[in-house]
Amino acid sequence: MTQENRSSPSTADSDDGIRYVNLYESESKIYTRKVTGFFQNVRRYTGLPLIAAYLLLPWFQIDGRPLVLFDLPARQFHVFNATFWPQDFMLLAWVLIIAAFALFTITVLFGRVWCGFTCPQTVWTLMYISVEHFFEGDRNKQIKLDQQPWSLEKAWRKTGKHSVWLLIAFITGATFIGYFVPIRELLAGMIPSRDESSGMLEFTLNPAAYFWTLFFTGMTYLNAGWLREQVCKYMCPYARFQSVMYDNDTLAVHYNDKRGEPRGARKASVSREETALGDCIDCSWCVQVCPVDIDIRDGMQYECINCGLCVDACNTVMDKMNYPRDLISFTSEDAIQNGRTHVFRLRVYGYAFVLLTMVSAFIYVLANRSPVGVDVIRDRGARLFRVRGGEIQNVYTVKINNMDQRPHTYDIRLEGDYPFIVENYRPMQIEAGEVFTLPLRVGIDKDAFDVEKASITVIVTARDEEKITASETNSFIGPGK
Ligand code: SF4
Ligand code: SF4
Repeated sequence: MTQENRSSPSTADSDDGIRYVNLYESESKIYTRKVTGFFQNVRRYTGLPLIAAYLLLPWFQIDGRPLVLFDLPARQFHVFNATFWPQDFMLLAWVLIIAAFALFTITVLFGRVWCGFTCPQTVWTLMYISVEHFFEGDRNKQIKLDQQPWSLEKAWRKTGKHSVWLLIAFITGATFIGYFVPIRELLAGMIPSRDESSGMLEFTLNPAAYFWTLFFTGMTYLNAGWLREQVCKYMCPYARFQSVMYDNDTLAVHYNDKRGEPRGARKASVSREETALGDCIDCSWCVQVCPVDIDIRDGMQYECINCGLCVDACNTVMDKMNYPRDLISFTSEDAIQNGRTHVFRLRVYGYAFVLLTMVSAFIYVLANRSPVGVDVIRDRGARLFRVRGGEIQNVYTVKINNMDQRPHTYDIRLEGDYPFIVENYRPMQIEAGEVFTLPLRVGIDKDAFDVEKASITVIVTARDEEKITASETNSFIGPGK
């Protein structure tokens, strides 16, 4: 009989042999067994750089500004040495679409490796489980500890575990807010200072920053400490639709039932040839290490996050039994049934083609993105046009947004089917991140403009760098013939 990871079974067998499942039963805790091996190492060594990057990025600065800062009040998003504005929202949408296609391509090839190795939920849960193992020991010790009455030893082990969990959660939450508020300011502002005149304690930090730091601290503690696999099973939408991307050649964790069945316990001294059983000794190690508490021998299941821990566990057992490894392995359905996997197939080509096209187009747009924006609005308060002397005049409000990280002096010129001229021209020095508003009067000789309406394009160009340019077209109104 399969030994489950849970503290109590969620199903019950009746006398008549029918298994009843309580659909309203609350989830019980999963106790996972410690495991070492190739996939556990891959999980560690992919998780560690990701955690380090997440924690350190807000601390790095460039020209006195954080390397990555999503400055919501200023509506500026600084990523390395580029600054993005709400106008660049399309680029964000593009990045998300590229990420989705990258995920599809990887899933078709390697199944849910994102879930098993790099998803923050998995990486943080692994960290929390390591802390749990440190304070409470391996699976059996944890079960024993939970069953025994409260004692000094149980109290310090539980307190130690939850204190470290909370500390990790706070560091995670504060770091996350550090992507929105410069992290040095955030941490310095969290400590209240005493006002010299009134002697009262003063909190310099915006209350919203406190709230969100505590919110994300709580969410991290809850998700990685308590909910764990339930986030993957019930909350993550990706788990629900990933199965449609699998085909018979997708590499995923599989149990080779041809080799393993019929399963059965045996002594280690009994050789493989001497027994009529398959290679599975029914030790249930593969179940005991599984973070989502499934038995991979029942076939592929939607809960499986492809973490490979059951592969490591089973290989350890196979080594002990002197049996060949990979009874459970990263392989494809096709390889198990027919002995081969088609890596390059139409679906992969299709996804890869779309992905490459989108990435190339994105790089092109990014490389040619001009860090200046211009908005031209016809002056609604004034009359449509004015005739002064021998000239027709229209008035506009021009907003120039210097989205670069340094100041520039900008020139304005006009283009259109008629010889328009700017009446009140002067070059403008605009600071980095500043939006400059310029009232612009455009005139034309009355005799040269014989229509009611024509289009006019306002072009703004930086003096020191011609490729920093932007334009917008509006209309010029006249009295007609
Ligand atoms: S079945 Fe294996 S690969 Fe899937 S989640 Fe469980 S341990 Fe990880
Ligand atoms: S770890 Fe391997 S041998 Fe043990 S039950 Fe799982 S598949 Fe069978």
